Amino acid sequence: MEHSEKIFIVPSFAFNPILLSFRGVNFMRLLLVEDEAKVARFIQRGLEAERFAVDVATDGRRAAEWAQTYDYDLIILDLMLPGLSGTEVLRMLRQRNNHAPVLVLTARDALEDKVTHFELGADDYLTKPFAFAELLVRVKALLRRGVGNQMGGRSQVLQVADLELDRLTQQIRRAGQRVELTGKEYALLEYLMLNAGRVLSRTMIVEHVWDQSFDGATNIVDVYVRHLRNKIDEGHAQKLIRTVRGVGYGISGEEEA
Ligand code: CA
Repeated sequence: MEHSEKIFIVPSFAFNPILLSFRGVNFMRLLLVEDEAKVARFIQRGLEAERFAVDVATDGRRAAEWAQTYDYDLIILDLMLPGLSGTEVLRMLRQRNNHAPVLVLTARDALEDKVTHFELGADDYLTKPFAFAELLVRVKALLRRGVGNQMGGRSQVLQVADLELDRLTQQIRRAGQRVELTGKEYALLEYLMLNAGRVLSRTMIVEHVWDQSFDGATNIVDVYVRHLRNKIDEGHAQKLIRTVRGVGYGISGEEEA
């Protein structure tokens, strides 16, 4: 009996998106703050199906603590919570210079509430009840914007191992040697390097680099990644561009596991 239980456990773990990750590259990591177990589970499952890694905090104190400890790409924040309210959590994060994008998800739909939370530094506000599809669209839009926001603060030269991209001159060097790229190849490489160590889905890449919706167009990503590999990795012992089968691509200077 014990034996068959063990066998049963394995496949359910295999679907955990974290285990699909490879060394040095992580999925976009979201913090979901929601005290209603049913709602939390519903959102968590939906987001994990979209290949996000999701941590769930069920009270305000834990949420504030985790948000300060871990580097989240996005925080989905309920307002009425035990411990600290979502409003307090948001205020605390911004006071401590934590600029992770925050999407407020609440049943409180008064205009005044929205204004208050935007003033406190919320990036978006969605009222319950909501359709998961709308939440997902907003989450993705914030993540794209988040990448954009970081660009201002990043240094002019992006570096992954011995690969360098100068964003001012748009010159690329691998091991000191100039690499010539087309405009789209450059945009793709810059996007990968700005998110070094993360897996980006084909959808995210198409939406960012080609600035269009992904319907049927995602194989263009495979084609351009192949071009980039030929120019960046070909002839070098260390391969920087990584593939996560069925998920997407990333770039990392860490050794592959
Ligand atoms: Ca609540």
